[in-house]
Amino acid sequence: MGDALPFFGNIIDGVEVEAVDGARMQSVDPYTREPWAEVPLGGQADAQLAIAAARRAFDEGEWPRMGFEKRHAILHRWAALMIEHTDELAMADARDMGKPLAQARHDVARSAWNVRFFADHALVTPAETYPMDSGHHAYSRFDPAGVVTAITPWNFPLMMASWKVSPALAWGNTVVLKPAEDTPTSAVIWARLALEAGMPAGVLNVVHGLGPDSTGQALTESPDVDRITFTGESGTGKIISKAAAGNLIPVSLELGGKGANVVFADADLDNAVSWSIQAIFRNAGQVCLAGSRLYVQREIYNEFLDRFVAAAEAMKLGDPKVEGTEFSVLASKEHFDKVSGYLDTVELDGGKILTGGLGEGWQVRPTVIVNAPADARVCREEIFGPVVVVHPSDTEDEVVALANDTRYVLNAMLFTENLSRAHRVAAKLKAGTVWVNCFFIRDLRAPFGGVGDSGVGREGGSFSREFFTEPKAVVMQISKD
Ligand code: NAD
Repeated sequence: MGDALPFFGNIIDGVEVEAVDGARMQSVDPYTREPWAEVPLGGQADAQLAIAAARRAFDEGEWPRMGFEKRHAILHRWAALMIEHTDELAMADARDMGKPLAQARHDVARSAWNVRFFADHALVTPAETYPMDSGHHAYSRFDPAGVVTAITPWNFPLMMASWKVSPALAWGNTVVLKPAEDTPTSAVIWARLALEAGMPAGVLNVVHGLGPDSTGQALTESPDVDRITFTGESGTGKIISKAAAGNLIPVSLELGGKGANVVFADADLDNAVSWSIQAIFRNAGQVCLAGSRLYVQREIYNEFLDRFVAAAEAMKLGDPKVEGTEFSVLASKEHFDKVSGYLDTVELDGGKILTGGLGEGWQVRPTVIVNAPADARVCREEIFGPVVVVHPSDTEDEVVALANDTRYVLNAMLFTENLSRAHRVAAKLKAGTVWVNCFFIRDLRAPFGGVGDSGVGREGGSFSREFFTEPKAVVMQISKD
């Protein structure tokens, strides 16, 4: 018998526990392809316990009633503990999904910033007053909505959780978080730190399990939750949307993407190459925002492509846990099979792989495809891997039409040194976020989200407040004249 694997339990009502029936599942390190941790394999009963704990903490507990300042202090203590535990949190994501350590550490820093930002935002955001000239006075309140279900994907385990949980908590809600089954461990470390920071029991609960017929389904079908915030695949989003509709529960869906990256001939080429590499190969392309359709103006097409391929081939591949690794494996065997399956379609659909292809183990190397017709599967479907399709383009109008020809409306990038063109094209691109001469930079006050197959609703700053609160109008009579 080998050593027992580390165990990361459900956290329900402030206590770390096994599943009700004692079942467990393993988290597999995709680089070693060996299990490295165990978590409960929860089910409906575990989800119900977590919802009941969150319900009690909301209906009777101090969290929604303690006021913004006290919550702010606890949330800031929590963020500080996250920074202190950066290596532990980053290693959990690196082992669960093969994310290179430097990127995982960056995610921890951004996650701590999510916690701090939303604590600050809730503390200082004013509500509105509506002075009336009829002897009345009206104002708005933003009261916490209640119990929030947060369901997260495996590509940014801690960051996606913090993006949803932080505003929900800052506005006084209580939460049940279900992390993705492939990446369950950082959420537990994070919830342990919340308790250490002084967050009352039941305010943040974590339940592990699967989606259908498991904790995921139970958390979205329960009439005892008041909000559902979900990030994941478009197909899952549709199922969750139906479940939410069954109870008329507001739902926020952040789903898939097929981001266009448009490089004009007047771009700063060094900058465009460097960001375009990040846009598709960061996190091995397992990013909803990935720039997976790259359109390069014909005048610079060959030069750009040469530099882009050279930069892709120069990436440091290897063990995610080793310092300096820039690119590693895909998150799971299932996902490796999906991404490598797309590579098999390239030539059949008329395209050509210029560089990349299969690597060691569950790795797909940084892969660049050319000559693919617009209706090829790799051009239309979300691959969610390190695979980019490059096309030459001519006019501004043509490239805008190509970029907008997708069911996914999440984000786009454009590279140009022409200021007027930057604003003009940014306005025409169908996207929830347009990055000009950069990628992945966020201002947490700005709206984030998409439409079409990319989702419903926006989160960020006041958009998160709108979602995680019940806005209320109070109208008072102030004069009897
Ligand atoms: P997924 O939909 O398979 O799973 C996401 C979560 O939903 C997991 O926790 C899973 O257990 C749960 N789930 C699955 N079926 C469920 C069901 N029937 N009911 C309730 N819960 C269920 O997604 P994934 O493969 O983990 O993540 C990758 C996807 O996430 C990609 O499509 C990517 O584009 C998307 N994503 C979007 C954003 C964004 O902000 N738009 C960010 C990151 C990832």
